[in-house]
Amino acid sequence: MSSMLLEGKTGLVMGVANKRSIAWGIARAANNAGARIILTYQNERLGQNAEKLAPELNNPLLKQCDVANDDEIDSLMESIGNDVGGLDFVVHALAYAPREALSGAYAATTREAFHTALDISAYSLVAVANRAAPLMKDRNGSIVTLTYLGSERVVPGYNVMGVAKAALEASVRYLANDLGPEGIRVNAISAGPIKTLASSAVSGISGMVKMHAERTPLRSATTLDEVGDTALFLVSPLSRGVTGEVLYVDGGYHVLGA
Ligand code: NAD
Repeated sequence: MSSMLLEGKTGLVMGVANKRSIAWGIARAANNAGARIILTYQNERLGQNAEKLAPELNNPLLKQCDVANDDEIDSLMESIGNDVGGLDFVVHALAYAPREALSGAYAATTREAFHTALDISAYSLVAVANRAAPLMKDRNGSIVTLTYLGSERVVPGYNVMGVAKAALEASVRYLANDLGPEGIRVNAISAGPIKTLASSAVSGISGMVKMHAERTPLRSATTLDEVGDTALFLVSPLSRGVTGEVLYVDGGYHVLGA
């Protein structure tokens, strides 16, 4: 008898840009626990990176999906239904804000930057969850998204993305309540700072990673493997009683008062 935690499960992991992506760390962890992974990337350019990474996974499927477009999310879910019949979990590991909104004063945020950041980084979870739910019918589905402490504390440079993450975390709670009666759980991981393509747009990210590693109770930088393993817990039956939650994978940084 196999003891693999995700044996026989199929999961959609959205947001792979390269090997440093949190989505990739989670895809690897879930794959190693026996799940079949469907990876999505935003556009053709990033698709080339995903194709290079894919052979590290066991029999993955690769699909393109820009979450700015409802039609693309519709056709993604339709093609998943056709290809594999259903889903056991969904990992939403994507976000975007225009670079110029991620430095200087939050007060200077334009209407357009606000709209884009909230649309791609927060609304997309709603659009994805609502369309993934029918594929998770009778499968005790689990949805996981990624957030950051900048949603509840002021982190210089995080600016409008902090506001988008606050909306994302509130969405996790409302979605958990809507989808709970169908047995679907919705949670967020609040990860410590990690150097990735997206985070490099936040001014001062290298200093944040260094300071975090020096001050966090566990005295180390957050790693992809740490986030991957917590995601594994959240998409597995081990967390079957947990929903609507924000779980910190930050070495304990968020408990510090000074
Ligand atoms: P990343 O750049 O590797 O991943 C971000 C992904 O978002 C990319 O694959 C990008 O293509 C995708 N994306 C952006 N706009 C999109 C769109 N319109 N449609 C589809 N995909 C789109 O960076 P990451 O740090 O791995 O980010 C993953 C998630 O983790 C994000 O939600 C991010 O906010 C969150 N997070 C990151 C950190 C960190 O320090 N890196 C900390 C906490 C939370």
